[in-house]
Amino acid sequence: MREGDHVLGRYTRRIATQPHTLIAQADPLCNLACSYCYLPFKIRRNPMSDEVAEAVARSAADFASPGAPIDLVWHAGEPTTLGVPRFGRIIAPFEELRTEGLLRHFMQTNATLIDDRWCEFLAEHEFRIGVSIDGPAALNRHRAAAGGRPAFPLIMKGIDRLRSHGIGFSVIAVVTTESITHPEDLLDFFVSLGCASVGFNIEEQEGVNSARPTPTFEQAVEFWRRTITWTRRNTGLTVREVDRLGGYLRARRTGDGWLSTLIDPIPTISAAGDVVLLSPELADTTAPAYDDFRAGNVLEQSIASMLENARRLKYVDEFLTGLDRCEETCEFFGFCRGAQAGNRYFETGRFDTTETSHCRVSKQALVVALSDTVREEHAA
Ligand code: SF4
Repeated sequence: MREGDHVLGRYTRRIATQPHTLIAQADPLCNLACSYCYLPFKIRRNPMSDEVAEAVARSAADFASPGAPIDLVWHAGEPTTLGVPRFGRIIAPFEELRTEGLLRHFMQTNATLIDDRWCEFLAEHEFRIGVSIDGPAALNRHRAAAGGRPAFPLIMKGIDRLRSHGIGFSVIAVVTTESITHPEDLLDFFVSLGCASVGFNIEEQEGVNSARPTPTFEQAVEFWRRTITWTRRNTGLTVREVDRLGGYLRARRTGDGWLSTLIDPIPTISAAGDVVLLSPELADTTAPAYDDFRAGNVLEQSIASMLENARRLKYVDEFLTGLDRCEETCEFFGFCRGAQAGNRYFETGRFDTTETSHCRVSKQALVVALSDTVREEHAA
């Protein structure tokens, strides 16, 4: 076997050659000032140009096929700060793909600027919406508007608009050291919002958020144990992490291919057209040792050709070593498959490491919580 074949095989054994998801930054600007935000350039206005948007659309077309549309998530910065006319211009190059069923738009938004005009636009272009809200007012206080004012009333106003237009949405909530002891209050609140699903991101040290306290492993086990118990008594709200664990257990029982699941390279395109792979959190991060994680720029080459060369990027190569080490040493690898590249970097400064506090509170604690639940039920 030639050296090149070996390197390629090492990559394709772990990482999908074709992405299912692209993440795009319409503008780094965000109108909120959340205390845990990881984005370094959120106060800078720098909208995606028409040329970059057209180049992203050309690249997206390479990955789309009938029956398997590519998902395009508008995120990293608050897309609605651009206003409907400017944002409409950015997504114009994707219309042909979308109307042919080859591309689906998603938007992760803080909802504070969502009004009737936005709702009409989002419905017309069949956006799938994710709202960032952390819980009821008392548990949402780290999401703040300018001057430290609570963002909660503004978010609720936006959610109210979405609901009045019949636009469904999911929620992503950051779980802080305050809210981690209140899982039932969070879950009951999200049911009251009428959202279909919630994903919990346990607060972690990431990007420029490196000084705040983060929840412990023991707190996370208890949080997941009570969340699992809640989900067994309540239907109608999908908890992303519990659902994923259920999917893993089902796959183990039926022999379905969980173990052959490949990591989506999730190309993330900045407003300037730079592309990073594996973790959107790496975008806009200055790291000279890794060439700022740039796989390329869409104005110079297609994302498909960046992916063909991805195995040669230093951080991708190190990440593959980290995955090998995880598989050799970690009893949770079967479920986890190696967790996030970005967390390895932000916690350890490299990618060939294994355990991080992120994987402990988000992956390991979840499995331990389930096994504690089963043990308790057997004992009872
Ligand atoms: S739980 Fe952590 S150490 Fe274990 S496989 Fe996942 S990332 Fe690696």
